[in-house]
Amino acid sequence: MELNKRQMDILEIVKADGPITGEQIAVRLSLVRATIRPDLAILTMAGYLDARPRVGYFYSGKKPSKSISDSMNAMKVGDFQSMPVVVSEQFSVYDAICHMFLEDVGSLFVVDKSSHLTGVLSRKDLLRTTLSNHEIDKIPVHVIMTRMPNITYCVKQDTLIKASKKMIDKQIDSLPVIVDTGDGLEVVGRMTKTNITAAFLSLADDHEL
Ligand code: ADP
Repeated sequence: MELNKRQMDILEIVKADGPITGEQIAVRLSLVRATIRPDLAILTMAGYLDARPRVGYFYSGKKPSKSISDSMNAMKVGDFQSMPVVVSEQFSVYDAICHMFLEDVGSLFVVDKSSHLTGVLSRKDLLRTTLSNHEIDKIPVHVIMTRMPNITYCVKQDTLIKASKKMIDKQIDSLPVIVDTGDGLEVVGRMTKTNITAAFLSLADDHEL
């Protein structure tokens, strides 16, 4: 948060001479108390100043916390992503289900022989196939996956806000984090709703909620 000139002046006065009343600060600035009331409120809310009834304002010494929106805009996919779990297009549905359990993930990314992203498998994709088919060890995953170019993905440099919006808009639980190599998309990470929840929690730590 950026302070204006008057707020900086107030901060200097309180640092030097606090505790000091609002009235006294106003006199020092040749202003009336009402004029500086919004500035004092902002400085107090942002954590620069503490206010005690009948004592006045004093410098908190605390580092002012960034606004929640500043903190959120600084959060990048690369700082919160998980390791991707990938399977080949030839994996059977049965093997993919086993893999999902072993790796403890909710989605698998499917890659071709050159390790380029070709599809996504969700829990329900696998469940659906299992309900309607008894030979899941014979069906390759490329038959049932959601495939390129319909895959929604993100890159490390994206903000978490952008990634969250994609997940909500498309009603999906995860995004592959990719690097575009020019001849295909290489999967380098996994961004999930759980990663977003962890990021949300870290904001609470920042703000000591
Ligand atoms: P579930 O199907 O278990 O509820 P999702 O909500 O993630 O899990 O998936 C819903 C559908 O969207 C599935 O058919 C899945 O293949 C597809 N899907 C999942 N993630 C993506 C993605 N990143 N891009 C495109 N489609 C996806």
